Amino acid sequence: HADIAMYHAKTKGRDNFQLYTQLMGEKAHAEGEYERRIQAALELNQLSMVYQPKVTAQGTLVSFEALIRWHHPTLGDISPAEFIPIAEQSNLIVAIGEFVIVSVLKTIKQWFAQGYQVLPVSINIAGRHLVCPEFLPFIKTQLTHYNIDGKYIEIEITESMLIEDIDTCVSILNELKSLNCSVSVDDFGTGYSSLSYLKILPLDILKIDRSFVAESDVKNEDAEICATIVNLAKSLKLTTIAEGIETESQLATLQKMGCDYYQGFYFHRPQSVADASKLLIQKDLTQYSEESVVNILY
Ligand code: C2E
Ligand code: MG
Ligand code: MG
Ligand code: MG
Repeated sequence: HADIAMYHAKTKGRDNFQLYTQLMGEKAHAEGEYERRIQAALELNQLSMVYQPKVTAQGTLVSFEALIRWHHPTLGDISPAEFIPIAEQSNLIVAIGEFVIVSVLKTIKQWFAQGYQVLPVSINIAGRHLVCPEFLPFIKTQLTHYNIDGKYIEIEITESMLIEDIDTCVSILNELKSLNCSVSVDDFGTGYSSLSYLKILPLDILKIDRSFVAESDVKNEDAEICATIVNLAKSLKLTTIAEGIETESQLATLQKMGCDYYQGFYFHRPQSVADASKLLIQKDLTQYSEESVVNILY
């Protein structure tokens, strides 16, 4: 864009250049500027993770989902729903994904060191990151580095990206399975519904999208979709999680259908590591001397 702008400036004079900048340049400039700000956020430690519990119908904690947060010193909190799609347009999403993987592994390591009964944590991985050649080596290296079994990591991917390049996805997901990681399809039901890919892909969990859960207790169509997803998952021997449970009535509806697990503000909002830790069961700490805890941590 800059080159074209300069061309206009040289050949057609200053007025044309300014017009170009006003009509088109501003948008391009704004996007480049946004990416630079995300890059800076990574470098300046403005990004952090929160952890949202996933529970049984009775409220027993089964795992967490790691969700990214961006606190900008002057702009305040910026939603991942806003900046993740921009990061996904470039390899910035790889740097962000790697930051998320390392943050989660550090937290799990800390939980072990503090004597908690550790539960699995799911990580949202963008399609662009999943298929890039650095992804598998990175996750392997980091699991080894932090000495954490892959069974503590669940990878959440979205439906639409899975069907884009199914063969590549099958082999990447198989590699993840060989590391003991589990795989879940996020926002299930919102992508293109090709059912044949469900039997080809090595999946473990379907997360029913919040848009179907929201009115499942009042709208027949939404209830039917939720029930269909639960039944489909059962016949394929997959686990179901309903996301965005906000009311007792939504919970009761999904529970009647036989949904396995639940996530949503009705149970818990996403929480800081410190608050999430309080929900974990503490094992007998006497087996750890203070010195050994410090050694595990650093
Ligand atoms: P998602 O993975 O589907 O995550 C669920 C979103 O719904 C989260 O929003 C969560 O805070 C919100 N949520 C959970 N329970 C409820 C509820 O009961 N009611 C309502 N209204 N919302 C609920 P959040 O954290 O703003 O994240 C939005 C999206 O941004 C995520 O959707 C995911 O697609 C993306 N995202 C978040 N963190 C990451 C990350 O670390 N990496 C990547 N690649 N994407 C991320
Ligand atoms: Mg998710
Ligand atoms: Mg989701
Ligand atoms: Mg969602």
